[in-house]
Amino acid sequence: MLALAAPGAAQEAQGVSDYRVFFAVCHAPRCETLLVALRTFTRRGQHLVLAVDPESLATRVLPADDMKLDEVSWERVREETWDTPYGRALADSERSATAEQDAGIVHALTPGNGVVLTIDLCPSAHPLDRRLFTTLILDLAPAEKPVPVGIAITGRWMIEHPKDLAWLRQREREGEIAVTWINHSFNHRYDKRLPLSRNFLLESGTDPDLEVLATEKAMIDQGLLPSIFFRFPGLVSGPELVGRVVAYGLIPVGSDAWLAKHEVPSTGSIVLVHGNGNEPAGVDRLLALVKREQTAIREKSWLLSDLPKSVSRAERSHAWKVASRMGHR
Ligand SMILES: [Zn+2]
Repeated sequence: MLALAAPGAAQEAQGVSDYRVFFAVCHAPRCETLLVALRTFTRRGQHLVLAVDPESLATRVLPADDMKLDEVSWERVREETWDTPYGRALADSERSATAEQDAGIVHALTPGNGVVLTIDLCPSAHPLDRRLFTTLILDLAPAEKPVPVGIAITGRWMIEHPKDLAWLRQREREGEIAVTWINHSFNHRYDKRLPLSRNFLLESGTDPDLEVLATEKAMIDQGLLPSIFFRFPGLVSGPELVGRVVAYGLIPVGSDAWLAKHEVPSTGSIVLVHGNGNEPAGVDRLLALVKREQTAIREKSWLLSDLPKSVSRAERSHAWKVASRMGHR
């Protein structure tokens, strides 16, 4: 159906094959709770599905054969989930798609006064900014372990930084960080000569199946669980592109607090920093913010929050907010 053999693709550590879009809805009692299957694939001879819980927005990989799923259209999935946090987040993302930048969910609802942290790993010649992670782990340890972080990862970064990826996986395995792995496209193309309206994923010749599905497949190959979220490279998109990403079953996630752009976070902000060594100023601001909040962190009134839970909470309470600000990147 599609060519997922990306040039120089990461080693097939998990041997994922036949990766494709597959929509199905599994109701109780067959499934414990309502589940939406999004993809099907084979790994070591086993037939599996990637599914999302439309209430919690958590994803899971499950054996397909036990579930006896009937494939349905994407429209049918929307009809059956419109009144869930998943359906509402998709609809909110589509409503926000008029802006050239920052489409999607940019703000969430955290339990206390904290924020949701997302860290972008766009392709980079620099190594991973490890002090970002080691400092967060140390400074939040009195109150929060593991530290919840969203990491928006690209296929290129995975190929070019295998040791840094292994280091991140080790932090995850040791329970120091709890990662929501966000799809940030495979190639993350950028051409500084082009206007935003024809740049990043809007550049001609972009292959959506490669950018979306090959990244997910590479994530699973590397032992990462793809979340339900997609972050546009450069946070740049347009209505048609948002529609296409949503039709893969994914929720676009932007940011209302890109720290290197001097945006100031508020409670529930989806904060953006770059962990790929390209924007140390943003990391400095984040670590300074965490230092300033040390007392509140000890009292557990300021914490980092889990992205799926915070978006689900926001959608359940209708407290969602979509930014339509322009003019920054
Ligand atoms: Zn990026």
